[in-house]
Amino acid sequence: MELIDIGANLTHKSFEHDFQQVVDDARSAGLKHIILTGTDAASSEAAAGLAVAATGFFSSTAGFHPHVASSFDVDARAVIATLCERDGTVAVGETGLDYNRNYSPREDQLACFAQHLEIAAAVGKPVFLHQRDAHDDFLALLREHREYIAGGVVHCFTDTRRALDDYLDLDMHIGITGWVCDERRGVELQGIVRHIPSQRLLLETDAPYLLPRTLRPKPSDRRNEPKYLPAVLAEVARCTGRDAAEVARQTTANATRLFGLEA
Ligand SMILES: [Zn+2]
Repeated sequence: MELIDIGANLTHKSFEHDFQQVVDDARSAGLKHIILTGTDAASSEAAAGLAVAATGFFSSTAGFHPHVASSFDVDARAVIATLCERDGTVAVGETGLDYNRNYSPREDQLACFAQHLEIAAAVGKPVFLHQRDAHDDFLALLREHREYIAGGVVHCFTDTRRALDDYLDLDMHIGITGWVCDERRGVELQGIVRHIPSQRLLLETDAPYLLPRTLRPKPSDRRNEPKYLPAVLAEVARCTGRDAAEVARQTTANATRLFGLEA
């Protein structure tokens, strides 16, 4: 079984001390490729560096997370736009809107998101999107730019059936994380995943965040890793009534196609 983790924050400091072990364990767990998420200038540059060092196994995204949208100035835009042109960069983002925490003011988030959509249109690459408690504004901006961008994924989807249908209407892909493994806050999502067409579904860990709560035995620390992606796969298979091997094959094919990875 071959899996692709389309969103892992492996440049996070929690991976500094045992990075190679994390990579080896991921390979042993059946991962054949990992897309490293860039969430600001430093992490996007670091992710791009890793993608160059291990072409084939790593690729990267470049962008500014809505939490840090306020620091997306002219210089930051130039850095991200340049990184997005590189071969190993397969998507523009992480970008989007997060009104759950509002670490950056909404107007900054909207401006930052719009600029990422412009960059995506210019470089012809898909977008890697984050949306939390901001569906209406997010949808409006995405809809406005949709015809100019080469598709993308709404990563870590945790929203409602209505939001799902809105994204599918725009022919977007949907990224499912270990949120679906949560027996409390993941319940709504568990009922929704079967409505994602199989050719629009992608799997991700969002490591080091969102450790799947279905892991047995429970890991001693709470850090999530790409090696736990099979737990997300298993839960998606359970919720959709599909065969896990088939979901693995389909999601790997989807990621390969959307991000233009080597087959
Ligand atoms: Zn996110």
